[in-house]
Amino acid sequence: MRFDPMAQSPRRIAVKGFMLAIVCCCSWQWDGHETATAAEQSEPVFRAGAAKVEVKTPMGMPIVGNWNSPPATHVHDELHVRCLLLDDGQTRIAFAICDNVGIPREVFDAARNLIDAETDVDAENVLMAATHTHSGVSARDTRTVDGEQILSTYQQLLARRIADAVVNAEQRLQPAKIAWGSVDVPSEVHNRRWYVKDESLLDNPFGGVDKVRMNPPSSSDALIKPAGPTDPEVSFISVQTSDGAPLALLANYSLHYVGGVPAGEISADYFAAFSERIGGLLAAQGDADFVGILTNGTSGDVNNIPFGSKNRTSKEPYQRIEEVSKLVAEKVAAACQSIQYQDWVPLASAHAELTLEMRKPDPEMQRYFASLQGAGRDPDNIHRHAMTYAKRIERLQAGPDESTILLQAFRIGDLGVMSIPFEVFAETGLDLKKRSPLPDAFTIELANGSYGYLPTPRQHELGGYETWMGTNRVQLDASDRITDVLLSLSQQIAPND
Ligand SMILES: [Zn+2]
Repeated sequence: MRFDPMAQSPRRIAVKGFMLAIVCCCSWQWDGHETATAAEQSEPVFRAGAAKVEVKTPMGMPIVGNWNSPPATHVHDELHVRCLLLDDGQTRIAFAICDNVGIPREVFDAARNLIDAETDVDAENVLMAATHTHSGVSARDTRTVDGEQILSTYQQLLARRIADAVVNAEQRLQPAKIAWGSVDVPSEVHNRRWYVKDESLLDNPFGGVDKVRMNPPSSSDALIKPAGPTDPEVSFISVQTSDGAPLALLANYSLHYVGGVPAGEISADYFAAFSERIGGLLAAQGDADFVGILTNGTSGDVNNIPFGSKNRTSKEPYQRIEEVSKLVAEKVAAACQSIQYQDWVPLASAHAELTLEMRKPDPEMQRYFASLQGAGRDPDNIHRHAMTYAKRIERLQAGPDESTILLQAFRIGDLGVMSIPFEVFAETGLDLKKRSPLPDAFTIELANGSYGYLPTPRQHELGGYETWMGTNRVQLDASDRITDVLLSLSQQIAPND
C-alpha cells in the first residue's frame, strides 16, 4: 500500500548521515492522444483546475482533538477535501487539503496510489494535508495484521475522497492566470506557551516541573510572557481564468484552529468558513466552480486565545469562527487588489525521505510510571494526565525505533511552498521563510502524514505539553534536520539567477 518515492528516484545523495532522495520534476505530462505542435511546445499554456468534494462524516464516531472524544451526533458543516491543481505545460502539481485533525501517512499513501493510477499528476507532485479542525472524526485507526497495515472503513473513504478531489480538479483544467501575495493579520494569532510566576502551573506528568505552560489560565496575574513568536502572515495564491474570472484561492495562516464548536458537532472550523467566504469577496458569485482553500501554516504553538487580555467576553458557538474567517478573508480579498497576475510561471517540485529516531523512555522514567501503578499511590497527588502519559510511553516503548517521513518543496514562479508532516512551531516556519532561496515562501503543516508536535530544540529545553514524550515522539533535533532538508530541496528547484 505504501507509496515508495525512493523506488522512483533518479539519484540519491547522502546528507549528514541520513539518506536523502531528491527528485526534481521536469518531465512532460503527456496525453498520448494529442500531438503537441511546435508552437505549443515553444509557448506552453498555464492551466489550473480546482475542486471540492464532501467526505460525508458517519455519525457515532469519536470527535478528536481534545482530551475528551465525544461521539459525533450532528453535522454543522460537512467536512471536505479541496484541491488546487496547476500545470505549466511541463509539470503538474496538486494541493489536496482535507478537513481533519491529522491524517496518518498510510492514508495519504493510499490516496497517492489512487492519484497515480487515475490522473496524469506524478504521485510525488501531490501535497496532501489536514487542516487541523478539532471538530472532525479520527483518521488514526490503522490496524496492523501479520505485518500489513489495514485501513479502517473511514480511512479508505478519506483516501478515496482525497483522490476524487484531485481527479475532479484535473478534469476542470483550463487556461489560467496566477498571482500570489500576503497580508499580515496579527490580531488572531497568539503564542499559547507562557512563562508563568506560579510554579503549581508547571507540573508535568513525569513528576517534574516545566519552565513554561501551554494554555495557561487567561487574564491571570501569573502570566509573564509568551515563550515563542507568532507568524502573522497570511500567504495566498490566487488563480483566475484566462479572461479574469476568479477560479481558486489557496491561503495559508499559522493559526491552530478557532473552535467554539459545541460537543458532538462536526465542523470544518474557520478553514471552511474562510474558504466559502473568500469566493464571494472576490466576486466569484454565481461561479460554482470557484474553490477557496485555507491551509494550516506552522501553528503547533499558536492559537486564537488572547491569554494576556483582561477584557475577554464569552462568545456564542461558532461566533469566533465567523469573526476570524471574516477578518482574514476581507484582508486577503483587499490584498488581491494589488497583485499582478501572470499568464505563465514555471512549476517544479522536489521531495525527500528523512528517517527520524523515535524517543524512548529511559529507565528512570520507566521506574516513575511503574511506581504509579503501585498500591497506595494517592491519585489526587499525581498529575491529572499522568496515567494518559503512562500509556503513551508504553506505546512508544513497544513501537518502532524510527519513522521515515516525506518532505516536499514546490516552486510556483518565485514562490516556494514546503510541507512538513508535524504540528510545527511558528519559529520553525519563520526560519524557513527567512532562509528560503525563493523570494516568497510558506510551509503547510500536517502534510503527507501526522507525527505529533515538532518543538525546536530551544523549546524542548523549556518543556511544556508539546514537548512531553508521547505528545512529541521524535528525536529532539528533528526540527533542525527537517529545516536542513527543506532548504536543500528548495535550493534544488530555486531559480538560478
Ligand atoms: Zn490541535
